[in-house]
Amino acid sequence: MELLWLLLPIAAASGWWAAQRSPMGRNSAVVRNADYFKGLNYLIDDQPDQAIEVFTRMADVDRDTAEIHLALGNLFRRRGEVDRAIHIHGSLITRTHLTTDQRQRAMLELGEDYLRAGLFDRAEELFQKLLAQPDHTILALSRLIHIFQQEKDWRQAIAHSDRLERISGESKRRQTAHFCCELAEEANARHQDDEARTWLLDALARDPNCTRANLLLGRSAMRAGDYRAAITAFQAVERQDRGYLPEVITPLGQCHNALGCLNEWIAYLREVQERDHGGRITDALAEWLLRQEGEEVALQFLERELREYPTLLGLRRLVEIKLARGQGAEYADLRALHCISTQMLNSAARYRCDHCGFVVKSLHWCCPGCLQWSTIKPLPDLVMKTNA
Ligand SMILES: [Zn+2]
Repeated sequence: MELLWLLLPIAAASGWWAAQRSPMGRNSAVVRNADYFKGLNYLIDDQPDQAIEVFTRMADVDRDTAEIHLALGNLFRRRGEVDRAIHIHGSLITRTHLTTDQRQRAMLELGEDYLRAGLFDRAEELFQKLLAQPDHTILALSRLIHIFQQEKDWRQAIAHSDRLERISGESKRRQTAHFCCELAEEANARHQDDEARTWLLDALARDPNCTRANLLLGRSAMRAGDYRAAITAFQAVERQDRGYLPEVITPLGQCHNALGCLNEWIAYLREVQERDHGGRITDALAEWLLRQEGEEVALQFLERELREYPTLLGLRRLVEIKLARGQGAEYADLRALHCISTQMLNSAARYRCDHCGFVVKSLHWCCPGCLQWSTIKPLPDLVMKTNA
């Protein structure tokens, strides 16, 4: 109840102010003050239901008490008591003596209550009504976009985001590109490849840095057996944002393998490795060097690389190659090292949100923590850069 205490000065001042302004004379002011003190007493006695009842009844008298009800309702919502907030804001908008501004603010707050309660259809109805009110259009649009995302109604989310962008002047292209990608994934699930491709090109037109669109284009080309197109799309992902390289390394290797152009693949890995010494690129390059050029070349590469850029994935690859040589004096130690590094890699978080720090094991395009798009990225492998 300690938060409710904060409302007491507002309630008392509002009661006094209402009494001063009352056109009904001294008697009604006395009655109102009595009601206020009754309401305040209920609050003090930790009986919010009765307090709300008294304050709600007072809203029938005139519009001056509306501010208290708005504040009370917001307070309950912040405390997580959404049913009470809905009751207060809901009863407020049925009153006849409110100003237009008060009624619209009560509708906004009730919409927020419904959102918090997960009653999206009721929230949507209120925010749709508020769209036509210039003072509330931007907020109503942003809340409707949130609702359409929750309901996975991506077409409406795009249309309302475009409208919000026009009105506010703030770019919404990163998120609308993702909405197009969502529609592309739905089309892919229905095997409508042409429709999916149209949505992905739309996504890239909206946001040329949309890595997800190129990733999906690459996967789609791979499914169709067009490995050259898939390589182009996957390599574009690395150019757009090097942080997503771990997502494309494996399919890129598969495409080059299918085309039988492994020398081209190793040349590409070496080129990328000049700007990225992360564990995954080191691991991939060692794996393909082992296949193409043999054990000695792969080991020499790993020993040289790990001395300057120690990574857990690189270390495990080195141990694996040495283990494959067979039973030597160090075999038991190598087995233990392999086991420990594998356990560490399996238990490590693989992705983190750049915006809020949320950590997850699989890639989410929309962060579950902060609801931002494209902020969750693969974590680099444990790299301990030495100063030596
Ligand atoms: Zn986040």
